[in-house]
Amino acid sequence: MAGEDLSPLIARARAGDRAALEAVLASVAPAVHRFGLRMCRNVHDAEDVLQDTLVAITAHLGEFEGRSSLSSWVFALTRSACARRRRGLANKPKADIDRLEEPVFAGPSPEAQVADQELASALSAALDGLSDEHREVILLRDVEGLTAPEAASAIGISVDALKSRLHRAREALRAELRPVLEPRLPARTTCPDVVALWSKKLEGDLSASDCSAMEEHLLGCPACGAACHALKRALLACQHVQSGPIAPEVQAKVKAAVRAWAGPLAG
Ligand SMILES: [Zn+2]
Repeated sequence: MAGEDLSPLIARARAGDRAALEAVLASVAPAVHRFGLRMCRNVHDAEDVLQDTLVAITAHLGEFEGRSSLSSWVFALTRSACARRRRGLANKPKADIDRLEEPVFAGPSPEAQVADQELASALSAALDGLSDEHREVILLRDVEGLTAPEAASAIGISVDALKSRLHRAREALRAELRPVLEPRLPARTTCPDVVALWSKKLEGDLSASDCSAMEEHLLGCPACGAACHALKRALLACQHVQSGPIAPEVQAKVKAAVRAWAGPLAG
């Protein structure tokens, strides 16, 4: 969904074109489902989140004025649906919850490393190991590819707050993946925090002089070189996180819910 220009379809959907509405929903559904699976971490809640979100999009499309990006708006609605689920879940016995199956990682990827199944399942476990706050920013920024301002808007925090949360989340992700991705190398006490620097560089927030100082350090320091390489691999792997296709029966259920809502308007 990120980067895709759906505005012509949205304009038609807002004008009451039912086929355009369904095309918009079909286009955002995979990302909504993936986010729901990763945030709720169980299949049934992810289906409910998908259904609630698509119905909410249908109900509120008339209020979407394109001032924020579509991604920000859709994920803001998805987050609300997730939060409602989780509040409801607090009262539910654990045994009722179907755990998420091993996710499917899409292939083939241009990077042979990313296809590495070991990395794929390590990444999956690492994402599950993050706090909700950290997982959420990684999902929005590094998995779904929202820009920092879009992710900030979806969550409802400032861009600065989003970026500092993102840097901490990437450090946590790297720590989770460390046993898989990084050889044990002694870091020197004088080493800069290269993972934090690298994360800042990705957000365009590293000055040219800090950047060249970091690059120079990386060339001469195996420990920091390995740490940076590990973070790069982890974030590259994030871009390939998939949830598999949405089951046909779920699609049909969601479609029926949307129809039930939109039906009277369709004329
Ligand atoms: Zn170093």
